Amino acid sequence: MLVLGIETTCDETAAAVVERQADGQAKILSNVVRSQTDEHARFGGVVPEIAARAHVDLLDGIVASAMKEAGVSYGQLSAVAAAAGPGLIGGVIVGLTTAKAIAMVHDTPLIAVNHLEAHALTPRLTCALAFPYCLFLASGGHTQIVAVVGVGEYVRLGTTVDDAMGEAFDKVAKMLSLPYPGGPQVERAAAGGDPTRFAFPRPMLGRPDANFSLSGLKTAVRNEASRLEPLEPQDISDLCASFQAAVLEATADRLTVGLRLFQERFGTPRALVAAGGVAANHAIRSALQDVAAKAQTTLIIPPPALCTDNGAMIAWAGAERMALGLTDTLEAPPRARWLLDANAKAPAGHANSRA
Ligand code: ATP
Ligand code: MG
Ligand code: FE
Repeated sequence: MLVLGIETTCDETAAAVVERQADGQAKILSNVVRSQTDEHARFGGVVPEIAARAHVDLLDGIVASAMKEAGVSYGQLSAVAAAAGPGLIGGVIVGLTTAKAIAMVHDTPLIAVNHLEAHALTPRLTCALAFPYCLFLASGGHTQIVAVVGVGEYVRLGTTVDDAMGEAFDKVAKMLSLPYPGGPQVERAAAGGDPTRFAFPRPMLGRPDANFSLSGLKTAVRNEASRLEPLEPQDISDLCASFQAAVLEATADRLTVGLRLFQERFGTPRALVAAGGVAANHAIRSALQDVAAKAQTTLIIPPPALCTDNGAMIAWAGAERMALGLTDTLEAPPRARWLLDANAKAPAGHANSRA
């Protein structure tokens, strides 16, 4: 089965062709990603209108490259999948409408993929991982712990009640005048800093639910930074190191609770899987390693290019849904908000729901 996948929910314009064999094995035939970081860098964050216009300019060429690189013709596709949300609505409309046009012209089934579902299913694209497993998704827009029970069966065990983790890294970077995107910059600065100099709060520590909260921590960093003004390079490093230490401890605590909730409802997870840009952080990776070991499960982190937004994950989620006969009609709506575990309730325009 050959599936074309299109991703335009945020600031990556991406398309890919993925093959799914009958035994469930996967092969990425092409995976073309154009990040718009440069377009947004001078604003210190993603500007929705600029993102939508860039997707319009870039997407046709990216889809053509993905098809050419894969050596596949439109007639050979079993389905065309697009991320139909959640995300910035202008971008979502561009990607979903393009997919609908291809589906209509080539009489190919359309699959409207939930972007979060695509992150959740990515480890099955890179290794033979069976259900159920536990996903920790931490990106610029999301921070969630999800039980992945089956294709289309997701139970959200925890989520942030305010900022996303990547967003907190980006905001801390911005207040310390480090360039965008801030996550890697904060990690770099933290490497030369003292993580014990500032005793920042460890939000939600010890709470029985598996939720996150990051805005109080961010504010604590801001208060400390303005107290120290003007900031010396060592202050910046110490602030970053102390911030990151607080994030690590909170993450380990929240995930430990999340894995316990998982265990109670679904048994031992086959793996703890990390995804999203924050999973690129080395300190977070080693914290996750400890958490997984204590919960007697293995940690899987897909390669960085598949952890952040890409077309292959959308194509793969489309293939997994297609294999179960879950296709959508051309009325499938673009969705700015789309809860993963609300999948049980079929969105309007769903042709073949298992709800
Ligand atoms: P979405 O939430 O819709 O998936 P996104 O584009 O914001 O979208 P990603 O591209 O997966 O998400 O991740 C980008 C985020 O990851 C940014 O907030 C960035 O700062 C953060 N990030 C990247 N590298 C690191 C790092 N080394 N340490 C901490 N955070 C990082
Ligand atoms: Mg991104
Ligand atoms: Fe994403």
